Amino acid sequence: MSSLVPVLEARGVSKSYRSRHRSVQALDGVSLAVPAGATLGVVGESGSGKSTLARLLLALDQPTEGTVLYRGAQVSGRRERELVEFRRRVQIVFQDPMSSLDPRMRVYDLLAEPLRALAVPGDQGERVAELLASVELPADAARRYPHQFSGGQRQRIAIARALGPSPEVLVADEPVSALDVSVRAQILNLLASLVRDFNLTLVFISHDMAVVRHLCRSVAVLYRGHLVETGPTHQIYRSPQHEYTRELLAAVPRVRTERVRAH
Ligand code: ADP
Ligand code: MG
Repeated sequence: MSSLVPVLEARGVSKSYRSRHRSVQALDGVSLAVPAGATLGVVGESGSGKSTLARLLLALDQPTEGTVLYRGAQVSGRRERELVEFRRRVQIVFQDPMSSLDPRMRVYDLLAEPLRALAVPGDQGERVAELLASVELPADAARRYPHQFSGGQRQRIAIARALGPSPEVLVADEPVSALDVSVRAQILNLLASLVRDFNLTLVFISHDMAVVRHLCRSVAVLYRGHLVETGPTHQIYRSPQHEYTRELLAAVPRVRTERVRAH
């Protein structure tokens, strides 16, 4: 298939939630193409629709209008058993590893479960060891439970789990927002090196423009469910077109000591 076909694409997606008598329009007509090899930052304040977009891109939820395509094929509205290949190829890391990792499962099983569920070929024990090494955790971590790790280590476990089926796209929904500032840079650096080493396409969701700047070559700005601006990171930084983007940039501290790069 042509490399010009985006690996992941949202076409005019809207999502409204109904709660009691109210209807919330979380996303409104968002179109976004993610080319293979892209590192795309999706930024916006809390409530702007970032997680909703992530769930739609992952086909964990269905759009009210519009459609999501993976390599040109529609994934919205498909049955779960038709999505096995898609599930291997597109993986997610959530903000809070404490709620995304089952506390009753040992790390070995947390990493092996998606391999089994998605029928990933190869030796499971070897794969788990490989995954732990790739997120720089010791081999004996496999025997322990999530609560026996720090927040940063738990996020490493969640990342290892996502890498299990050798995805081509990783969607990370605020993966460092729940972590102590001191460990954020470590996890961002890890993500940057994984993107490089495994040639991942990255959709990195954040409310923090500073983080996105160092990790992503392009940026999409969400504001109240609308995509208001998209383009190369350096261009958006140099000359933001939308007032809201300017506000987001104004919130970025001028002096930064951490430096992470995916490219
Ligand atoms: P973000 O991730 O940018 O903070 P979300 O996508 O989580 O934004 O939410 C966008 C809007 O949709 C918010 O107003 C939120 O309250 C609402 N929303 C999200 N999920 C649901 C849900 N399951 N039911 C009702 N409203 C929701
Ligand atoms: Mg969110």
